[in-house]
Amino acid sequence: MLMIMLPQWTIEKKRDGAELSTESIHGFISGYTSGAIPDYQMAALAMAIYFRGMNARETADLTLAMMHSGKIIPPESIPGAKVDKHSTGGIGDKISIPLAPLAAACGAVVPMISGRGLGITGGTLDKLESIPGYRVNLSETEFLQVLTACGCSMIGQTDEIAPADRKLYALRDVTATVPSIPLIASSILSKKMAEGIDALVLDVKCGSGAFMKTIEHARLLAKGLVDTGRSMGKKVTALITDMNQPLGRNVGNALEIRESIDILSGKGPDDVRHLTCALAGQMLAVSQLYPPAEGLEAKLADGSALNKFRQMTKLHGGELDAALPTSERQITLPAPKSGYLAKADAEAIGRACQLLGAGRTKTGDAVDHAVGISDLKKIGERIEKDEPLCVIHANRQDHEAEIFDLLQWAFDISDHQIEPSPLIIETIT
Ligand code: URA
Repeated sequence: MLMIMLPQWTIEKKRDGAELSTESIHGFISGYTSGAIPDYQMAALAMAIYFRGMNARETADLTLAMMHSGKIIPPESIPGAKVDKHSTGGIGDKISIPLAPLAAACGAVVPMISGRGLGITGGTLDKLESIPGYRVNLSETEFLQVLTACGCSMIGQTDEIAPADRKLYALRDVTATVPSIPLIASSILSKKMAEGIDALVLDVKCGSGAFMKTIEHARLLAKGLVDTGRSMGKKVTALITDMNQPLGRNVGNALEIRESIDILSGKGPDDVRHLTCALAGQMLAVSQLYPPAEGLEAKLADGSALNKFRQMTKLHGGELDAALPTSERQITLPAPKSGYLAKADAEAIGRACQLLGAGRTKTGDAVDHAVGISDLKKIGERIEKDEPLCVIHANRQDHEAEIFDLLQWAFDISDHQIEPSPLIIETIT
């Protein structure tokens, strides 16, 4: 007997805490992708999943259903060891920009499909678009050509790749259903697995500027991602990393490109360089490639990774030597007293950048590439009274009072020396 499953029966089952069958998950996602199932029923199912969760099998089914909602790039169409990195999102997280060319300079092939920033978390695509001329929307043929020519390409999600995730992510964003482990895991993995990769390294952010605020939640997400990715036959590892303070000293699109170029030139902040090299090491390890004998930092210092980035940018139509956008005003925030920096809250700094116009309030908003915050002091550093805690790069005048309030709250100075918490908290292999 042919069993017809109405969408509301699937919602009802999950609402009551039951396990969904493979068929009902695939049927629901394919109905949602085609438009046969409306947003309100998908939103109801997302909320039921948010409260009731999903087991490993259901999460893998949801990932597969979303991945098969669109085109899958066959791994054999890209020669070499194909490996990507995905971060669950944070403040000042520009790691993908130095990382992809560094891994490519060490022999990996990095087909990276990145996202835009939403809310307070920044997005690689918005950062890349602050480079004059850089095109993120390459066709699949162009993407494969760039990969073959230089070993890395960073593009946006095309209309064909995981369309179910595109629709569902936008819906989750406005229905308060983003921070759900099975929904995050299936969202990330469905698009990553459609890229034709052999292996994936995940950077699961944990702290005030991340979706996962506690180590327990970050661990559950990291484990969920690793288990689901492996059940799909890919090599996957995850690092859980700190997102209580921003990564590096600059937050904001063009400001983060500047810092990335510093890293690619063997300079820049220690935390960004350290995490870039740690993630590159993981990417090479899961791909069974050897790190260079001279070490990963040497590939940054000798310009090999910068050359790859230059080549990739050119192939994307970008001009690395052209001036990056700058803001009309730069305002310093003075330290109220001398001491040691005890807090630089990532969430508050992210919110201030969003109010400056570096991020979006809703999907489709334009971002201001020039604005943001630079020269951030890092936790543990000594600071004297009136020395700048950071520099604010602003174009518009609105929200000024809220931005100052947020930033004043973001920083704390202690009279005693502070030991910063470790950047890499755990490795899930
Ligand atoms: N990144 C994604 O791609 N999806 C999520 O759900 C969260 C972070």
